Amino acid sequence: MSTPPPEMHWSRWGDPAEAGPLSESAFALVDAFIGTADTPAVDPASVRLSAVLGQELLDELAGIVGVEHVLTDHDSRLHRTRGKSTPDMLKLRAGDGSDSPDAVVRPGTHDEVAALIAWAVERHVAVVPFGGGTSVVGGLVARREGYAGVVSLDLVRFDKLLAVDTDSMTATLEPGLRGPAAEALLAEHGLTLGHFPQSFEYASIGGFAVTRSSGQSSAGYGRFDSLVVGLRVATPQGGLVLGNSPANAAGPDLREVVMGSEGAFGVVTAVTVRVRRLPAVKVYESWRWDSFAGGATAMRTLAQAGVLPTVLRLSDENETQINLAKPAEVGGDSGGGCLMITGFEGTQEAVDAKRAAVTALLTGLGGAGLGEDEGWSSGRFHGPYLRDSLLDVGVLVETLETVTFWSNLHRVYDAVKSALTSALGEGTLVLCHISHVYETGASLYFTVAAKQADDPIAQWMGAKAAASDAIIDNGASITHHHAVGQDHKPWLAREIGPVGVQMLRALKQELDPSGVLNPGVLIP
Ligand SMILES: Cc1cc2nc3c(=O)[nH]c(=O)nc-3n(C[C@H](O)[C@H](O)[C@H](O)COP(=O)(O)OP(=O)(O)OC[C@H]3O[C@@H](n4cnc5c(N)ncnc54)[C@H](O)[C@@H]3O)c2cc1C
Repeated sequence: MSTPPPEMHWSRWGDPAEAGPLSESAFALVDAFIGTADTPAVDPASVRLSAVLGQELLDELAGIVGVEHVLTDHDSRLHRTRGKSTPDMLKLRAGDGSDSPDAVVRPGTHDEVAALIAWAVERHVAVVPFGGGTSVVGGLVARREGYAGVVSLDLVRFDKLLAVDTDSMTATLEPGLRGPAAEALLAEHGLTLGHFPQSFEYASIGGFAVTRSSGQSSAGYGRFDSLVVGLRVATPQGGLVLGNSPANAAGPDLREVVMGSEGAFGVVTAVTVRVRRLPAVKVYESWRWDSFAGGATAMRTLAQAGVLPTVLRLSDENETQINLAKPAEVGGDSGGGCLMITGFEGTQEAVDAKRAAVTALLTGLGGAGLGEDEGWSSGRFHGPYLRDSLLDVGVLVETLETVTFWSNLHRVYDAVKSALTSALGEGTLVLCHISHVYETGASLYFTVAAKQADDPIAQWMGAKAAASDAIIDNGASITHHHAVGQDHKPWLAREIGPVGVQMLRALKQELDPSGVLNPGVLIP
């Protein structure tokens, strides 16, 4: 068992104790570039939620999980309303809680989850699995029309490390464990998962698996889906246990069907992952490149030479100028050009050897080493708090991401930037970085800031649609790691084509024929 983090702020990112205004330097920068206005959130008690589930249904739920695990109070439902995208926040800040669950239910065992799903099928109630609540793609917004109600299935009680196998270097974790709790439990065995997305402090193990998450150390440890070796899932058709071997040829790999399924096919109740020994040494360094293109070529060279550090990130010129790689220092002057961060983790010998190889390659390609950099890792999880401070002063800020092959990278970069600036108009800031690389390509992660219009949700949805069109029109993927949710469905359909859509619908129809699991999410 582990201690959960403090309940996330109802309309902001993270720990309410960390919420605060922009620093003076950041405010001055934003005021000069974009302009500011006072745009406070409503009082949480005044947010309008959906009606509470009927008493008969609540009694039945209590019969499955115990009355103390069926919650209908305003706060519990408010905290499980939507996820943490900017439109999600803007709606709540304006008092719109219409996507709230009608009840929150907290099962504690696989069998209770299975019983809840059977109940939902019988009563035709929509079920939204809730891990950390950090979805940024509408993954927690179920369609409610045609259902007798909507229930949030909160996995918070699934908080145990179930097994550790140090011969095979695997561990089985319950899905409701948040990042820090999972790492703390593994650390007791001298192990780490090495998965550190920016949402690490709140996102859950189950959420990582079903959204195919990718963390800042993906170059060294791999994407989350590459760490998963086994899964236990409760579906309306019964239980599914996958992953009895490190690799096999036993037909298509069904784990791949569960990873990325976003609660639409079943509820993950256990995840077996590959683990590593806790690193003895961690070193981060900064490099400067004259241009984004030069830095990107260096990243490609490292990936294709097989000498990737554990962390590898390159900010474009705009992101370097704002210094978003180090959120604690936003507004600082980082000297122009493009900032690259490299990080090395492992034994002293392994770190020394990898660092020497990377340094030789980067120097040879024209990079200028700026020395060791602790500022990057220490401020890393502060970034998301900035968005809320900006929303408070009338600035629209949101992120989006994509992935493509190296040969197409700059075309996609230019197309997305231009789509965003055309949609949002003069004064829009578009920043970008690369932080996940492969031998064949890389992701592009954009941060956008503009002055809020009268209807900032419509303003962003228009810009997001333009950027998504640019992504698909230029042959990239609609998402590298944020997943599909409700928001990316139209572009997923274009990406995978009619046969791909048919395959997804067939899986949904077989596994969840009455459509109670996360209706409206993932399946175009
Ligand atoms: C500030 C911020 C930074 C972020 N940074 C990153 C990043 O660096 N890398 C990255 O990959 N993502 C990032 N994200 C996106 C998000 O954190 C990930 O998608 C994360 O994996 C979601 O995990 P969660 O536990 O919060 O899932 P939730 O938001 O609770 O759920 C996500 C989806 O999965 C379903 N689900 C959750 N748990 C289960 C389960 N056990 N079984 C079945 N379905 C389930 C939900 O119904 C929903 O559809 C970020 C988000 C924010 C707000």
